Amino acid sequence: MKYIDEFRDPTTVHRFADAITRITTRPWTIMEICGGQTHSIVRHGIDRLLPPSVNLLHGPGCPVCVTPAESIDTAIAIAGEPGVIFCSFGDMLRVPGQSGSLLTAKARGADVRIVYSPLDALRIAREAPGQEVVFFAIGFETTAPATAMAVAQAARDRIHNFSLLVSHVLVPPAIEALLDAPDNQVQGFLAAGHVCTIMGYWEYEPISGRYRVPIVVTGFEPLDLMQGIYFCIRQLEEGRAEVENQYGRSVRRDGNRTAQELMRRVFTVQPQRWRGIGEIAASGLGLTAEYARYDARLRFGQTSTAAEYPTECIAGTILRGLKKPIDCPAFARRCTPERPLGATMVSSEGACAAYYRYRRHATRSVASGIAWEASP
Ligand code: SF4
Repeated sequence: MKYIDEFRDPTTVHRFADAITRITTRPWTIMEICGGQTHSIVRHGIDRLLPPSVNLLHGPGCPVCVTPAESIDTAIAIAGEPGVIFCSFGDMLRVPGQSGSLLTAKARGADVRIVYSPLDALRIAREAPGQEVVFFAIGFETTAPATAMAVAQAARDRIHNFSLLVSHVLVPPAIEALLDAPDNQVQGFLAAGHVCTIMGYWEYEPISGRYRVPIVVTGFEPLDLMQGIYFCIRQLEEGRAEVENQYGRSVRRDGNRTAQELMRRVFTVQPQRWRGIGEIAASGLGLTAEYARYDARLRFGQTSTAAEYPTECIAGTILRGLKKPIDCPAFARRCTPERPLGATMVSSEGACAAYYRYRRHATRSVASGIAWEASP
Protein backbone atom coordinates (compact mmCIF):
# COMPACT_ATOMS: atom_id res chain seq x y z
CA MET A 1 0.00 0.00 0.00
CA LYS A 2 1.53 3.29 -1.11
CA TYR A 3 2.83 5.49 1.74
CA ILE A 4 2.50 2.55 4.16
CA ASP A 5 4.56 -0.38 2.89
CA GLU A 6 7.68 1.63 2.04
CA PHE A 7 7.60 3.18 5.52
CA ARG A 8 7.55 -0.28 7.13
CA ASP A 9 10.48 -1.68 5.19
CA PRO A 10 12.66 -3.43 7.81
CA THR A 11 15.88 -3.12 5.78
CA THR A 12 15.60 0.67 5.57
CA VAL A 13 14.57 0.94 9.22
CA HIS A 14 17.65 -1.06 10.25
CA ARG A 15 19.83 1.08 8.00
CA PHE A 16 18.72 4.20 9.88
CA ALA A 17 19.17 2.43 13.23
CA ASP A 18 22.76 1.64 12.20
CA ALA A 19 23.29 5.25 11.15
CA ILE A 20 22.04 6.44 14.56
CA THR A 21 24.48 4.08 16.27
CA ARG A 22 27.33 5.40 14.09
CA ILE A 23 26.72 9.09 14.83
CA THR A 24 25.85 8.80 18.54
CA THR A 25 28.78 9.71 20.77
CA ARG A 26 27.04 10.37 24.10
CA PRO A 27 23.70 9.85 25.92
CA TRP A 28 20.69 11.70 24.54
CA THR A 29 17.07 11.84 25.73
CA ILE A 30 14.32 12.40 23.18
CA MET A 31 10.56 12.62 23.75
CA GLU A 32 7.90 11.68 21.23
CA ILE A 33 4.94 13.91 21.95
CA CYS A 34 2.13 11.87 20.48
CA GLY A 35 0.48 8.76 21.92
CA GLY A 36 0.08 7.36 18.41
CA GLN A 37 3.85 7.58 17.99
CA THR A 38 4.33 5.89 21.39
CA HIS A 39 2.19 2.98 20.29
CA SER A 40 4.08 2.64 17.02
CA ILE A 41 7.46 2.77 18.82
CA VAL A 42 6.48 0.13 21.36
CA ARG A 43 4.62 -2.04 18.86
CA HIS A 44 7.45 -2.13 16.33
CA GLY A 45 10.26 -2.22 18.92
CA ILE A 46 11.85 0.97 17.55
CA ASP A 47 13.43 1.79 20.94
CA ARG A 48 15.05 -1.65 21.08
CA LEU A 49 16.87 -1.02 17.80
CA LEU A 50 18.52 2.13 19.18
CA PRO A 51 21.88 2.25 20.94
CA PRO A 52 21.46 2.09 24.75
CA SER A 53 22.63 5.70 25.05
CA VAL A 54 19.53 6.96 23.24
CA ASN A 55 16.61 7.18 25.66
CA LEU A 56 13.06 7.64 24.35
CA LEU A 57 10.51 9.21 26.69
CA HIS A 58 6.76 9.21 26.08
CA GLY A 59 5.05 12.57 26.16
CA PRO A 60 1.62 13.97 27.02
CA GLY A 61 0.16 13.64 23.52
CA CYS A 62 -2.73 11.31 24.31
CA PRO A 63 -5.90 13.44 24.40
CA VAL A 64 -7.88 11.03 26.53
CA CYS A 65 -5.02 10.77 29.04
CA VAL A 66 -4.68 14.51 29.63
CA THR A 67 -8.39 15.39 29.84
CA PRO A 68 -8.71 16.49 33.47
CA ALA A 69 -10.77 14.53 35.97
CA GLU A 70 -13.05 17.51 36.60
CA SER A 71 -14.09 17.47 32.92
CA ILE A 72 -15.09 13.81 33.34
CA ASP A 73 -17.14 14.72 36.42
CA THR A 74 -18.80 17.57 34.51
CA ALA A 75 -19.53 15.20 31.63
CA ILE A 76 -21.14 12.71 34.02
CA ALA A 77 -23.24 15.47 35.63
CA ILE A 78 -24.48 16.75 32.26
CA ALA A 79 -25.12 13.23 30.96
CA GLY A 80 -27.36 12.66 33.98
CA GLU A 81 -29.61 15.64 33.16
CA PRO A 82 -33.09 14.68 31.91
CA GLY A 83 -33.48 14.74 28.14
CA VAL A 84 -29.74 14.82 27.43
CA ILE A 85 -28.05 12.66 24.80
CA PHE A 86 -24.35 12.77 25.67
CA CYS A 87 -22.00 11.96 22.77
CA SER A 88 -18.35 11.05 23.19
CA PHE A 89 -15.45 9.28 21.54
CA GLY A 90 -15.45 5.68 22.79
CA ASP A 91 -12.16 5.85 24.71
CA MET A 92 -13.53 8.51 27.05
CA LEU A 93 -16.29 6.28 28.42
CA ARG A 94 -14.03 4.25 30.71
CA VAL A 95 -11.83 7.06 32.02
CA PRO A 96 -12.44 7.42 35.76
CA GLY A 97 -13.48 10.66 37.43
CA GLN A 98 -14.46 11.10 41.06
CA SER A 99 -18.06 10.03 40.51
CA GLY A 100 -17.30 7.03 38.30
CA SER A 101 -17.08 7.14 34.52
CA LEU A 102 -19.38 7.85 31.61
CA LEU A 103 -19.79 4.09 31.31
CA THR A 104 -21.11 3.85 34.87
CA ALA A 105 -23.37 6.85 34.13
CA LYS A 106 -24.69 4.94 31.13
CA ALA A 107 -25.26 1.87 33.32
CA ARG A 108 -27.26 4.10 35.69
CA GLY A 109 -29.54 5.06 32.78
CA ALA A 110 -27.91 8.11 31.18
CA ASP A 111 -28.18 8.24 27.38
CA VAL A 112 -24.44 8.14 26.56
CA ARG A 113 -23.58 7.38 22.94
CA ILE A 114 -20.27 6.70 21.18
CA VAL A 115 -19.69 8.80 18.08
CA TYR A 116 -16.74 9.01 15.70
CA SER A 117 -16.99 12.71 14.95
CA PRO A 118 -18.69 15.85 16.28
CA LEU A 119 -20.65 15.89 13.02
CA ASP A 120 -22.23 12.58 14.09
CA ALA A 121 -23.39 14.31 17.27
CA LEU A 122 -24.76 17.21 15.23
CA ARG A 123 -26.71 14.74 13.08
CA ILE A 124 -28.21 13.22 16.23
CA ALA A 125 -29.25 16.73 17.33
CA ARG A 126 -31.01 17.29 14.00
CA GLU A 127 -32.85 13.97 14.37
CA ALA A 128 -33.87 14.54 18.01
CA PRO A 129 -35.06 18.16 18.18
CA GLY A 130 -36.84 17.56 21.49
CA GLN A 131 -33.62 16.58 23.28
CA GLU A 132 -30.38 18.29 24.21
CA VAL A 133 -27.36 16.75 22.46
CA VAL A 134 -23.97 17.41 24.01
CA PHE A 135 -20.63 16.50 22.41
CA PHE A 136 -17.55 15.94 24.61
CA ALA A 137 -14.96 17.84 22.54
CA ILE A 138 -11.52 16.55 23.48
CA GLY A 139 -8.23 16.30 21.65
CA PHE A 140 -5.38 18.35 20.26
CA GLU A 141 -5.22 20.65 17.25
CA THR A 142 -5.94 17.56 15.12
CA THR A 143 -9.55 17.19 16.25
CA ALA A 144 -10.35 20.83 17.07
CA PRO A 145 -11.13 21.82 13.44
CA ALA A 146 -13.89 19.17 13.22
CA THR A 147 -15.37 20.49 16.47
CA ALA A 148 -15.22 24.03 15.08
CA MET A 149 -16.92 22.89 11.88
CA ALA A 150 -19.73 21.21 13.83
CA VAL A 151 -20.52 24.27 15.92
CA ALA A 152 -20.28 26.58 12.89
CA GLN A 153 -22.76 24.32 11.07
CA ALA A 154 -25.06 24.29 14.11
CA ALA A 155 -25.07 28.10 14.11
CA ARG A 156 -25.60 28.31 10.36
CA ASP A 157 -28.50 25.83 10.43
CA ARG A 158 -29.97 27.25 13.65
CA ILE A 159 -29.71 23.97 15.53
CA HIS A 160 -30.23 25.09 19.09
CA ASN A 161 -30.36 21.72 20.90
CA PHE A 162 -26.63 21.09 20.34
CA SER A 163 -23.78 22.09 22.64
CA LEU A 164 -20.15 21.27 23.40
CA LEU A 165 -18.28 20.32 26.53
CA VAL A 166 -14.93 21.66 25.33
CA SER A 167 -11.68 20.21 26.67
CA HIS A 168 -9.36 20.73 23.69
CA VAL A 169 -5.65 21.20 24.36
CA LEU A 170 -2.70 22.66 22.46
CA VAL A 171 0.75 21.14 21.96
CA PRO A 172 3.25 24.06 21.92
CA PRO A 173 2.43 25.36 25.44
CA ALA A 174 2.80 21.80 26.77
CA ILE A 175 6.28 21.53 25.23
CA GLU A 176 7.24 24.81 26.87
CA ALA A 177 5.87 23.64 30.24
CA LEU A 178 7.95 20.45 29.99
CA LEU A 179 11.07 22.42 29.12
CA ASP A 180 10.46 24.90 31.96
CA ALA A 181 10.15 22.12 34.57
CA PRO A 182 13.20 21.95 36.86
CA ASP A 183 13.32 18.15 36.49
CA ASN A 184 13.14 18.21 32.70
CA GLN A 185 15.30 15.58 30.99
CA VAL A 186 14.22 16.09 27.39
CA GLN A 187 16.88 17.27 24.94
CA GLY A 188 14.96 16.85 21.68
CA PHE A 189 11.36 16.35 20.57
CA LEU A 190 9.55 14.41 17.89
CA ALA A 191 6.53 16.60 17.15
CA ALA A 192 3.29 14.95 16.03
CA GLY A 193 2.86 14.88 12.27
CA HIS A 194 -0.93 15.02 12.29
CA VAL A 195 -1.05 18.09 14.57
CA CYS A 196 1.45 19.83 12.29
CA THR A 197 -0.60 18.88 9.23
CA ILE A 198 -3.23 21.25 10.64
CA MET A 199 -1.09 23.87 12.37
CA GLY A 200 2.15 23.73 10.38
CA TYR A 201 5.39 23.98 12.31
CA TRP A 202 6.06 27.72 12.42
CA GLU A 203 4.79 27.76 16.03
CA TYR A 204 7.66 25.47 17.07
CA GLU A 205 10.44 27.63 15.64
CA PRO A 206 10.55 30.19 18.50
CA ILE A 207 10.46 27.34 21.06
CA SER A 208 13.32 25.51 19.38
CA GLY A 209 15.35 28.74 19.24
CA ARG A 210 14.60 29.92 22.76
CA TYR A 211 15.27 26.61 24.52
CA ARG A 212 18.01 25.44 22.10
CA VAL A 213 16.15 22.17 21.51
CA PRO A 214 15.75 20.27 18.22
CA ILE A 215 12.14 19.62 17.23
CA VAL A 216 11.54 17.17 14.37
CA VAL A 217 8.05 16.91 12.88
CA THR A 218 7.64 13.16 12.54
CA GLY A 219 5.13 10.67 11.16
CA PHE A 220 3.88 7.44 12.64
CA GLU A 221 5.26 4.53 10.65
CA PRO A 222 8.45 2.73 11.76
CA LEU A 223 10.63 4.41 9.15
CA ASP A 224 9.15 7.84 9.96
CA LEU A 225 10.04 7.39 13.60
CA MET A 226 13.52 6.03 13.02
CA GLN A 227 14.27 8.82 10.56
CA GLY A 228 12.84 11.43 12.96
CA ILE A 229 15.10 10.11 15.72
CA TYR A 230 18.05 10.15 13.33
CA PHE A 231 17.37 13.81 12.42
CA CYS A 232 17.08 14.69 16.11
CA ILE A 233 20.31 12.91 17.13
CA ARG A 234 22.15 14.42 14.17
CA GLN A 235 21.16 17.92 15.33
CA LEU A 236 22.15 17.18 18.92
CA GLU A 237 25.52 15.76 17.89
CA GLU A 238 26.19 18.76 15.62
CA GLY A 239 25.11 21.26 18.29
CA ARG A 240 22.18 22.50 16.21
CA ALA A 241 18.67 23.28 17.47
CA GLU A 242 16.17 23.70 14.64
CA VAL A 243 12.75 22.60 13.51
CA GLU A 244 13.07 19.89 10.85
CA ASN A 245 10.24 18.29 8.91
CA GLN A 246 10.54 14.52 8.48
CA TYR A 247 6.83 14.23 7.54
CA GLY A 248 7.02 16.24 4.35
CA ARG A 249 4.47 14.06 2.57
CA SER A 250 1.80 15.60 4.80
CA VAL A 251 3.13 18.70 6.58
CA ARG A 252 3.87 22.19 5.25
CA ARG A 253 5.36 24.99 7.35
CA ASP A 254 2.09 26.97 7.33
CA GLY A 255 -0.22 23.97 7.80
CA ASN A 256 -3.86 24.08 6.75
CA ARG A 257 -4.81 27.77 6.83
CA THR A 258 -8.50 27.11 6.24
CA ALA A 259 -8.68 24.88 9.31
CA GLN A 260 -6.69 27.39 11.36
CA GLU A 261 -9.02 30.23 10.32
CA LEU A 262 -12.08 28.20 11.33
CA MET A 263 -10.47 27.42 14.70
CA ARG A 264 -9.69 31.12 15.25
CA ARG A 265 -13.30 32.04 14.52
CA VAL A 266 -14.80 29.49 16.92
CA PHE A 267 -12.21 29.15 19.68
CA THR A 268 -10.34 31.41 22.01
CA VAL A 269 -7.12 30.36 23.77
CA GLN A 270 -7.36 30.00 27.54
CA PRO A 271 -5.55 28.33 30.47
CA GLN A 272 -6.20 24.61 30.73
CA ARG A 273 -5.65 21.94 33.36
CA TRP A 274 -4.00 18.74 32.14
CA ARG A 275 -4.66 15.52 34.00
CA GLY A 276 -1.67 14.55 36.10
CA ILE A 277 0.25 17.68 35.08
CA GLY A 278 -1.76 20.67 36.30
CA GLU A 279 -2.66 23.99 34.73
CA ILE A 280 -0.67 25.20 31.72
CA ALA A 281 -1.16 28.79 30.59
CA ALA A 282 -2.71 29.33 27.15
CA SER A 283 -2.86 25.58 26.50
CA GLY A 284 -6.61 25.09 26.04
CA LEU A 285 -9.49 26.24 23.88
CA GLY A 286 -12.84 27.75 24.85
CA LEU A 287 -15.65 29.05 22.67
CA THR A 288 -15.52 32.67 21.52
CA ALA A 289 -18.32 35.04 22.55
CA GLU A 290 -19.97 34.47 19.13
CA TYR A 291 -20.39 30.75 19.93
CA ALA A 292 -20.70 30.88 23.73
CA ARG A 293 -24.36 29.87 23.52
CA TYR A 294 -23.11 26.41 22.45
CA ASP A 295 -21.06 26.01 25.63
CA ALA A 296 -22.55 23.06 27.56
CA ARG A 297 -21.05 24.27 30.85
CA LEU A 298 -23.02 27.51 30.56
CA ARG A 299 -26.15 25.83 29.25
CA PHE A 300 -26.30 23.35 32.14
CA GLY A 301 -24.90 25.65 34.82
CA GLN A 302 -21.83 23.48 35.39
CA THR A 303 -18.57 24.90 36.66
CA SER A 304 -15.49 22.69 36.69
CA THR A 305 -13.29 23.05 39.73
CA ALA A 306 -9.80 21.60 39.77
CA ALA A 307 -9.81 18.04 41.00
CA GLU A 308 -7.06 15.45 41.42
CA TYR A 309 -8.14 12.38 43.27
CA PRO A 310 -5.95 10.28 45.53
CA THR A 311 -4.72 7.35 43.54
CA GLU A 312 -1.66 5.19 43.20
CA CYS A 313 -1.62 6.03 39.48
CA ILE A 314 1.67 7.70 38.44
CA ALA A 315 0.44 8.68 34.98
CA GLY A 316 1.37 12.32 35.60
CA THR A 317 5.04 11.44 35.94
CA ILE A 318 4.81 9.23 32.84
CA LEU A 319 3.21 12.03 30.81
CA ARG A 320 6.03 14.35 31.91
CA GLY A 321 8.64 11.82 30.80
CA LEU A 322 9.95 11.09 34.29
CA LYS A 323 8.84 7.44 34.47
CA LYS A 324 7.80 4.62 32.18
CA PRO A 325 4.63 2.53 32.62
CA ILE A 326 6.57 -0.47 33.84
CA ASP A 327 7.91 1.67 36.73
CA CYS A 328 4.36 1.85 38.13
CA PRO A 329 3.84 -0.78 40.86
CA ALA A 330 0.24 -1.25 39.74
CA PHE A 331 1.12 -1.90 36.08
CA ALA A 332 -0.40 -5.17 34.82
CA ARG A 333 -1.22 -6.12 38.38
CA ARG A 334 -3.87 -3.93 39.94
CA CYS A 335 -4.14 -1.85 36.75
CA THR A 336 -5.10 -3.52 33.46
CA PRO A 337 -7.17 -2.41 30.45
CA GLU A 338 -10.11 -4.30 31.96
CA ARG A 339 -9.72 -2.59 35.36
CA PRO A 340 -7.84 0.65 34.66
CA LEU A 341 -6.72 2.91 37.49
CA GLY A 342 -5.66 5.71 35.17
CA ALA A 343 -6.47 7.16 31.76
CA THR A 344 -3.14 6.08 30.25
CA MET A 345 -4.27 2.45 30.62
CA VAL A 346 -7.69 3.19 29.09
CA SER A 347 -6.89 5.07 25.95
CA SER A 348 -5.88 3.38 22.73
CA GLU A 349 -3.12 6.04 22.60
CA GLY A 350 -2.09 5.74 26.26
CA ALA A 351 1.49 4.73 27.09
CA CYS A 352 0.38 2.23 29.75
CA ALA A 353 -2.01 0.57 27.30
CA ALA A 354 0.82 0.35 24.74
CA TYR A 355 3.18 -1.30 27.23
CA TYR A 356 0.42 -3.62 28.43
CA ARG A 357 -0.36 -4.69 24.90
CA TYR A 358 3.16 -5.15 23.61
CA ARG A 359 5.54 -5.25 26.61
CA ARG A 360 3.80 -6.56 29.65
CA HIS A 361 6.24 -9.44 29.95
CA ALA A 362 9.20 -7.09 30.22
CA THR A 363 10.57 -7.25 33.73
CA ARG A 364 12.57 -4.13 34.36
CA SER A 365 13.03 -0.59 33.17
CA VAL A 366 15.46 2.04 34.30
CA ALA A 367 13.61 5.30 33.69
CA SER A 368 16.70 7.39 33.12
CA GLY A 369 18.90 5.43 30.81
CA ILE A 370 16.37 2.72 29.97
CA ALA A 371 17.42 -0.84 29.99
CA TRP A 372 14.83 -3.38 29.03
CA GLU A 373 14.91 -7.03 29.90
CA ALA A 374 12.21 -9.10 28.32
CA SER A 375 11.13 -12.17 30.20
CA PRO A 376 11.66 -15.38 28.24
S1 SF4 B 1 -0.23 1.37 35.02
FE1 SF4 B 1 -2.26 2.17 35.64
S2 SF4 B 1 -1.94 3.01 37.69
FE2 SF4 B 1 0.09 2.79 36.74
S3 SF4 B 1 0.50 4.77 35.75
FE3 SF4 B 1 -0.46 3.46 34.20
S4 SF4 B 1 -2.65 3.95 34.32
FE4 SF4 B 1 -1.71 4.71 36.22
